Amino acid sequence: DDSFDEECDYLFKSVLVGDSAVGKSNLLSRFARDQFQLDSKPTIGVEFAYRNIRVGDKLIKAQIWDTAGQERFRAITSSYYRGALGALLVYDITRRTTFENLRKWLHELREYGSSDMVIVLVGNKSDLSNSSRQVNIEDGQSLAQLEGLSFLETSAMENLNVEEAFLQMINKIHEIVS
Ligand code: GDP
Ligand code: MG
Repeated sequence: DDSFDEECDYLFKSVLVGDSAVGKSNLLSRFARDQFQLDSKPTIGVEFAYRNIRVGDKLIKAQIWDTAGQERFRAITSSYYRGALGALLVYDITRRTTFENLRKWLHELREYGSSDMVIVLVGNKSDLSNSSRQVNIEDGQSLAQLEGLSFLETSAMENLNVEEAFLQMINKIHEIVS
């Protein structure tokens, strides 16, 4: 609310990046509103969501941008990345191609994002691990190590590690700016 805004110490912009249908919008709605949508809705209409977070004695307003479906058309523009201090780079553990396309997304993040942007690699849909996993956890770990990223597997559906992924990013941004 407004009174909180006035007391806010920082505003952090972050972005969600990754192929279509990996679960970006659901990770955001889970984090911001604790909601999950079973149906795939490429565009949910909102371009970003906020959540206020306390880190130590500081109040942080986390503004997190969603692609609103543009990633389908490879039409994410530089304004999406402008001013972003962090990114969740998301793939789907049940679709190998979404992992292979991370190279392209990393390239874009490094081209348009700030050089010290905090990037957290997220393998989403861990609830489907037993039935349809196509990307081993070790593959995620070694890519993260190679590229100097944090890494977690999440489930937006079962609300596993979602909070942790966003909070890791926000805490690391806080370490950098404070
Ligand atoms: P986006 O295109 O990256 O924003 O992906 P969405 O958030 O729209 O999700 C695409 C589809 O994957 C939807 O049908 C979601 O219900 C589903 N989905 C998202 N996250 C998960 C998850 O953690 N587990 C499972 N099983 N399905 C998910
Ligand atoms: Mg989406």
